[in-house]
Amino acid sequence: MPELVFFSGTMDCGKSTLALQIGHNRSARGLQGVIFTRDDRAGEGKLSSRLGLVTEAVEAGPGRDLYGYVVEQLSRGGKVDYVIVDEAQFLAPEQIDQLARIVDDLDLDVFAFGITTDFRTRLFPGSQRLIELADRLETLQVEAMCWCGARATHNARTVGGEMVVEGEQVVVGDVNRPTEDVGYEVLCRRHHRRRMTSAAARAVALSPDVLPVASGDVGFGDGVSSKGLPGGATECLEADVVEVDDVAA
Ligand SMILES: [Zn+2]
Repeated sequence: MPELVFFSGTMDCGKSTLALQIGHNRSARGLQGVIFTRDDRAGEGKLSSRLGLVTEAVEAGPGRDLYGYVVEQLSRGGKVDYVIVDEAQFLAPEQIDQLARIVDDLDLDVFAFGITTDFRTRLFPGSQRLIELADRLETLQVEAMCWCGARATHNARTVGGEMVVEGEQVVVGDVNRPTEDVGYEVLCRRHHRRRMTSAAARAVALSPDVLPVASGDVGFGDGVSSKGLPGGATECLEADVVEVDDVAA
């Protein structure tokens, strides 16, 4: 039974690598697929992974009818056994509906890969539609890590090194505005909520003002002290950061 499968994860969790691996495994069995992507880091019409692999792909730009594209390939006598879609979060909801139609009307498997939520923790429209329509949702097991070592579940955007939580949902790099230094970092939810990127955490750790001055040793009763000491340093550090944020806000 053909399926529409949505493989989701944060950035850096190996989605594109898995997309390429699925394509490779199938072509090794003599199967041919159509690979769609959108705004890949390697440029238009490319599917690339951070591990350095690249393959040709069809750019699924705005207004492109994905169902129509596959039908056209087939009607020209082309062989299409499956469809892979990378960066599926950037697709329009109606393009996701076209993917479902490829599965239902053409009996082809469609494997879509994407990030679920944006830097504001809101669902991308394409990902929302995939969650609504997919036969199966797979959360990728190659997990990205936050700087603190916890599982990274959220994407943060930085502008000029500062984490931001407002702005356009999709920022495509603009060479004409090099000062808009937009970057991304994966974080655990806790540090996303506190806007603690690795750079911010380093800055706090280096600042003499917020070094934990063994406050757990002073002024606490025995019960609190013994409980507070082991993880005390980190807790102090994070409490100070929250205060700094509050002052800044
Ligand atoms: Zn963290």
